[in-house]
Amino acid sequence: MTNEEIRSEFEKFVGNEKYKHFILTIYEAFPLRKRLFFWQEQLLKDFTNEFDLEIIEFSKIHEIFNYCPVHNYQLKRDNVPIVDGNEINSKISYEREKELFPLANIIAPRDLERFSYPKTVDVVYCKKCRELNKKYN
Ligand SMILES: [Zn+2]
Repeated sequence: MTNEEIRSEFEKFVGNEKYKHFILTIYEAFPLRKRLFFWQEQLLKDFTNEFDLEIIEFSKIHEIFNYCPVHNYQLKRDNVPIVDGNEINSKISYEREKELFPLANIIAPRDLERFSYPKTVDVVYCKKCRELNKKYN
């Protein structure tokens, strides 16, 4: 299977909602996580078993699943400022944002569990998500 086929078959296999959650979980933390969660590994395993495919190694994950699950635009990399969560003013709710443009990533909210922060961080974003973010904010 090509990467594109893997994406579309995997989406059909797990269903649209779970697929979205799977992809967004890969890209929700910055810097990006170095491994998948157990439930993600489990989904992939069920999928590869069903289609008799080779196990998908983590090193291939970003290469295969690099499309926005909402808009199907290829994801790009950027370096954005890290800001305090209290400074983020959005005109629409967090839930709506997650639904409409989950991968805008114009800024990165500060992770409160850490003591010191760099000023910027590398993120992954979808161009369409950013356009919508502009339109709604
Ligand atoms: Zn998008």
